[in-house]
Amino acid sequence: MTVPTLTHFAGGRRLAAHSTRTAPVYDPATGSVAAHLPLADATDARRVIDDAAAAAPAWGQRSASDRAQVLFKFRELCLAHRDEIARLISNEHGKVLADARGELQRGLEVVEFACGIPHLMKGEFSDGVSRGIDMHSLRQPLGVVAAITPFNFPAMVPLWMLGPALATGNCVVLKPSERDPSCPLRLAELWSEAGGPPGTFNVLNGDKEAVDALLTDPLVQAVSFVGSTPIARYVHETAAKHGKRVQAMGGAKNHCVVLPDADLAQVTDALMGAAYGSAGERCMAISVAVVVGDETADALVARLTTRVQALDVGVPTEGNPDMGPIVTGAQRDRIAGYIAAGVTAGATLVVDGRTHPRSAGPGFFLGGTLFDRVTREMSIYQDEIFGPVLCVVRVASADEALALCDTHRYGNGVAIFTRSGGAARDFAHRVRCGMVGINVAIPVPLAFYSFGGWKQSLFADHNQHGMDGVRVYTRVKTVTTRWPEGTSG
Ligand code: NAD
Repeated sequence: MTVPTLTHFAGGRRLAAHSTRTAPVYDPATGSVAAHLPLADATDARRVIDDAAAAAPAWGQRSASDRAQVLFKFRELCLAHRDEIARLISNEHGKVLADARGELQRGLEVVEFACGIPHLMKGEFSDGVSRGIDMHSLRQPLGVVAAITPFNFPAMVPLWMLGPALATGNCVVLKPSERDPSCPLRLAELWSEAGGPPGTFNVLNGDKEAVDALLTDPLVQAVSFVGSTPIARYVHETAAKHGKRVQAMGGAKNHCVVLPDADLAQVTDALMGAAYGSAGERCMAISVAVVVGDETADALVARLTTRVQALDVGVPTEGNPDMGPIVTGAQRDRIAGYIAAGVTAGATLVVDGRTHPRSAGPGFFLGGTLFDRVTREMSIYQDEIFGPVLCVVRVASADEALALCDTHRYGNGVAIFTRSGGAARDFAHRVRCGMVGINVAIPVPLAFYSFGGWKQSLFADHNQHGMDGVRVYTRVKTVTTRWPEGTSG
């Protein structure tokens, strides 16, 4: 079978690449190359950015309700093609179909929120700030904005940015991950089909060269980035140096604190989903369980052990497995390397995902891994592994658990499980983290709230979606008005 070569998307259609550099896109369930992805050069970037810039004035001047009509239609088309899009995601990312459908749903919730843009973009008005003088403020689009996204949510994270950016009247150049580009390309086609004018939603495929073109091009007004922390820091610094507005979301190491009064059946269910769902390749995955007291830890580890051993690992589009493969062979090997490092450092390896029968191949599979007695200096505790590995850290008190969460360099999500309202409230108030769950392991804010972490999980002043999504893609203008005094007629 011939392996297809993918394209960019600009001016309302698929655009063959000028560059001859390519990267393989894998089917992680078989390990075979499913497509070749063009990696943009400066000529490709110029063409796509210019198409976006050409479309920006007219799109920005359309009424907000007019733009919302295109978003409504786009949402309908995405829902009509939900199964097709989910398959595109599963085939290149490796997450199971239910997770793929779920991420599309969460992304579309942001589009739904953005459909309310006529209300969301309303400015302020003050009548008579001085004699005969009124004042009002309004929000205007920026022009061309870049959206640079990670592999782990090829529908949801682009839609976090596309919804508010397009609704507020900007044209978007999306630079998706090299690992699963087919879903973003399909979204761009559906946007065109929905009536989105050519040049409003463009896709530039590529690697660092494409990203650097976007970070430095004078026509790009703002950059929204989601990915790992080292790249988020680089994007933030480089885009800011080139005078752009920038928001950059980074990595995570999300802790789940378990107090002795917690309902352990509930905790076990929640941790199985939060640590092993999507093979742990989620920025809100729980990768550390901080358990207060040895008695609670012994009981929880016993419950988790049987569940992790029983995880059904399989081809994501066949049957209904709990977990699919890891996105690439390199990432699978990186995770296996961390498991080896954990053993060397002295952690107790309770379940070893490397020994799962599927791990022998074909495909990039790895079973679930559970470590107990992990300590803070170990690399499996410090680093974001981004795989199906859960570390149990034992502590003596709730204060020690809080201190552990607070001193970790990441501060994306955190959860606490307890029956005590007072303990939960105190924890939620004091913890240095952007998103907190109380008996909820993955506290992802809904579209009408904002998503964002603290510390090295976010380099920006603005979060994603909610009202921050409107603010980050618009500028405020304030108009002071005085008319000649007199009566009408
Ligand atoms: P990544 O940082 O490798 O890639 C993200 C984007 O940056 C991609 O589009 C990629 O092409 C580009 N990129 C990669 N290397 C680059 C370089 N040297 N210079 C310029 N651009 C470069 O991230 P990933 O592996 O695709 O995604 C997983 C990471 O994303 C994890 O760290 C995860 O926690 C994070 N993530 C964070 C959030 C959040 O909201 N905080 C959400 C999802 C994922």
